[in-house]
Amino acid sequence: MTTTHRIPGVLFRTSPREAEVPLVFDSPHSGTDYPGDFDHTCPRHVIRTAEDTYVDELYAAAPAHGATLIGALFPRSYIDTNRHLADIDQALLEEPWPHPLNPGVKTKMGMGLIRRLAVPKLPVYSRKLGVAEVQARIDKYYHAYHSELAGAADRLHARFGGVWHVNCHSMKSVSNGMAAEGPGVPRADFVLGDRDGTTCASELTKFVETFLVQRGYDVRINDPYKGVELVRRHGRPSENRHSLQIEVNRRLYMDEKSFERNANFPRLKADLDALVAALAGFARERAAPR
Ligand SMILES: [Zn+2]
Repeated sequence: MTTTHRIPGVLFRTSPREAEVPLVFDSPHSGTDYPGDFDHTCPRHVIRTAEDTYVDELYAAAPAHGATLIGALFPRSYIDTNRHLADIDQALLEEPWPHPLNPGVKTKMGMGLIRRLAVPKLPVYSRKLGVAEVQARIDKYYHAYHSELAGAADRLHARFGGVWHVNCHSMKSVSNGMAAEGPGVPRADFVLGDRDGTTCASELTKFVETFLVQRGYDVRINDPYKGVELVRRHGRPSENRHSLQIEVNRRLYMDEKSFERNANFPRLKADLDALVAALAGFARERAAPR
């Protein structure tokens, strides 16, 4: 039996203590509970393309294998937990932001902490946002998510002397004009990101790559996705804290227009169940219980 608890906005599932392994999956972009105060003016079916729809479901086997699964229930287009808090576009706001600002490349492309563009040239809002409104999203959702993930990682690290974190995402099958590689580029089946070998020991990246290649998938490393805030924050290999981002191509599991699961969904989910089981063994072998 696995334990589920739900603080507002965050899915959290874990295993009984005796079955636990130091492995955490987090799915920051699969949330589909659109808050009533979101007030986006672009059409819902367009803003939904920002979701990593069903990614939490693809990794749902995690607790059955002793791992912890955390997921955002709110949409990433409302507030993106995979961005730094200073990654705000002042142009979105009706008044000056009262904290330090450090907008990154993603913000300039319209995909910062608070998203400006739904798709190229289509703004999310037809108004500017108040500082208090953005601050409320940070306090209620961003901090809740980060505190659940950091709490789980810290607790497992204290118990096992190490923790292995998989940051789970999906990608459009073909890039659009907001992608780093430019529009119209077909994506690989999987892209693994360890920020050029800095967020985990290379054996973790290699292990996942080998597993997926053996199942017939085409896998790229750090190209075009290297990982952003969540792996940067949690990946500290010198402290035996390892973080790897996995991006899966949406064409492998869903119809990108209707948002329905496609006929291949069960096959991909079975392969990811097997990957979770293999990673649980990987983490168990490397754990040093205290
Ligand atoms: Zn994502």
